[in-house]
Amino acid sequence: MIPFLDMRAALAELRNELDEAYARVCEGANFILGPELEAFEAEFAAFCGSKHCVGVGSGLDALSLPLKARGLGPGDEVIVPSQTFIATWLAVSMIGATPVAAEVDDETFNLDPSAVRAAITPRTRAIVPVHLFGQPAPMHALAEIAARHSLFLLEDAAQAHGARLGDARCGQLGDAAAFSFYPTKNLGCLGDGGAVVTDDADLAATLRKLRNYGSTQKYVHDLVCGNTRLDELQAAFLRVKLASLDRWNERRRRVAARYDQRLRSAGSIRTPRAIEGCEHVYHLYVIRSPERDLLQAELRERGIATQIHYPIPPHLQKAYGDLGIAPGALPVAERIARESLSLPMWPHMSDDQVDRVCDAILAATDRRLP
Ligand SMILES: *Cc1c(COP(=O)(O)O)cnc(C)c1O
Repeated sequence: MIPFLDMRAALAELRNELDEAYARVCEGANFILGPELEAFEAEFAAFCGSKHCVGVGSGLDALSLPLKARGLGPGDEVIVPSQTFIATWLAVSMIGATPVAAEVDDETFNLDPSAVRAAITPRTRAIVPVHLFGQPAPMHALAEIAARHSLFLLEDAAQAHGARLGDARCGQLGDAAAFSFYPTKNLGCLGDGGAVVTDDADLAATLRKLRNYGSTQKYVHDLVCGNTRLDELQAAFLRVKLASLDRWNERRRRVAARYDQRLRSAGSIRTPRAIEGCEHVYHLYVIRSPERDLLQAELRERGIATQIHYPIPPHLQKAYGDLGIAPGALPVAERIARESLSLPMWPHMSDDQVDRVCDAILAATDRRLP
């Protein structure tokens, strides 16, 4: 049996350091907005090549708070990809603004700049590109569009910790970037967490208030808002794991290269396209098959677990029924939802495990599938 994801080897590798981090926080007995968070924020900002990092309680909040900080709300439109995890859209809805879908590119799964241009209206205030599955979105073209129309450019980097476009990391490619530290992400904590990185000092200062009852000075409150903080334990764990991120992303790339090589000969399968000049970090390794459901069932029979990211695009979810976007309106997103299949992927996956997945796919495509 090959699981979809197995985090145990990664945690075992760092177990002593994680235990030390836990002990350190307990000894300090400071659990919220303390020295571990301050240190992690400095370290993660430096890692991303950004000036500021503000830790928050989730990736969703890391997306919605910068939009709120920039004054967006009801009546404003924010351009989002037609296929993504629904949090990208929900972050826009949470502040009362309207998500406007632009189609993604069929090969890279990332926002298509020409679709973004076509989606701009006088009410457009921001663009939220997603670096889906770990590959940077076409940020140079999107930054040009954002500059021309004075739009806020917020990266959804929840799947792209450490990925690069040229020499720049995801996180320094827009006006601000949102990260999630959900446990399964490339950099994950042992619970929920998120962060915003930005070079904009004013934005960072507002975010520090927005995450903490509108306050940076005890019992002085400047804004009406909620509470969404990255706690000291999670920050301490993240400091331990950050030190391994580049090494583990490299291992993900090795797994992906082995899949690429072995699956090249599987006729009806399309392997993911890695753009030249990008450093993909393979949060997920997503293939395409016109017979996806059949292939997934065959693999399940052969003891290989797979997942679908994502089976229903946001515009066809009940939650977005009010937008009234009919099936067929965003054909690229809908085709990707029908055809994509995520293969097992984690940094410590062995060559033998990758080979067993590939053997099963090749056997399945030889036998029952076209
Ligand atoms: C995981 C994820 C989020 C949300 O992160 P949470 O920490 O779960 O709130 C947002 N966008 C994308 C693309 C994600 O993959």
